[in-house]
Amino acid sequence: MRVLVVEDEKRLAAGLKKGLEAEGFATDVALDGTDGLWMAREHPYDALVLDIMLPGVNGFKICATLRDEGVWTPILMLTAKEGELDEAEALDTGADDYLTKPFSYIVLVARLRALMRRGSSERPTVLEAGDLRLDPGARRVFRGDAEIDLTAREMALLDFLLRNKGEVVSKRDILDHVWDYDFDGDANIVEVYIRRLRNKLDRPFERDTIETLRGAGYRLAP
Ligand code: CA
Repeated sequence: MRVLVVEDEKRLAAGLKKGLEAEGFATDVALDGTDGLWMAREHPYDALVLDIMLPGVNGFKICATLRDEGVWTPILMLTAKEGELDEAEALDTGADDYLTKPFSYIVLVARLRALMRRGSSERPTVLEAGDLRLDPGARRVFRGDAEIDLTAREMALLDFLLRNKGEVVSKRDILDHVWDYDFDGDANIVEVYIRRLRNKLDRPFERDTIETLRGAGYRLAP
């Protein structure tokens, strides 16, 4: 398993390399975004660990560029502390997961292994359910021909529901994927956002695509 770490904090980068190699990952390090993007394009990595604030090209841009070019290597993005918007943007630009700094090394390794197990199966550029469409690259959502304006968080939630369409997702699943894993606020935030999505995606079009399954979670009708 070969991992590329793109991180400009030298000490953190060196620590990650040492730690990941001890876990059996062949690990390369790029200390700026320009080198990172080049290396990610040139070598078939099994996963990327990508910092956001980088000299040269930032992590969001690297992620979006690779996805635009059809590179689907799993990407774990490192976000700054309390960077809620960063997390939503990380997912919007095509990252598979994110971890908030400072992070536990054990958690990082576990997440990387999970991402690698999932692999780099190519994802559709446009996510669809009936006449509902989300284009993650362009960050645009349509119901039929009507474009719907969503915030970054609403978009991240819809993205998650669409990727799991037809399946029941619990509030916890949603919190873990759309909010930070360490989010310890009120889980009712999920209900608030589901309601917002319904008000934008369903109600004006007289649809009912987001089902509530009492006690279990939500399901987006395929
Ligand atoms: Ca940095």
